[in-house]
Amino acid sequence: MSHDATCIFCKIVEGKIPAKKVYEDEDILAFHDINPWAPVHILIIPKRHITSMVDVGPAEQALLGKMMAVSPRLMLELGVTNGYRHLINTGADGRQEVMHLHLHVMGGPRPWLKG
Ligand code: AMP
Ligand code: ZN
Repeated sequence: MSHDATCIFCKIVEGKIPAKKVYEDEDILAFHDINPWAPVHILIIPKRHITSMVDVGPAEQALLGKMMAVSPRLMLELGVTNGYRHLINTGADGRQEVMHLHLHVMGGPRPWLKG
């Protein structure tokens, strides 16, 4: 597994910094966002360091499919029954802050802080 020693999400994958995990398998990890915009706000990430969508191609098709496909189950398990929003920020103009690919999934009753 390729990890970037300076990457905060790689450190979460490696267990070097804590996170409130909601799902994990050999390829992906899901955990609660530390600064939630919505009552439920999780991040789903590949365990392998992928910087952003810029580095995604056909080889990542199954991985990204897995990240998307697990999300309905996780939101249901977290009690979200009235809809949610998926978001991926890419690069500077996309306002990506953490340079390890992550899928935001946000839900729960409105109003939300953002989004
Ligand atoms: P983005 O702007 O898409 O790069 O969003 C990065 C997200 O990562 C933000 O919503 C942050 O609140 C979240 N975040 C940053 N550090 C952590 C952390 N240690 N644990 C959980 N979420 C984090
Ligand atoms: Zn990383």
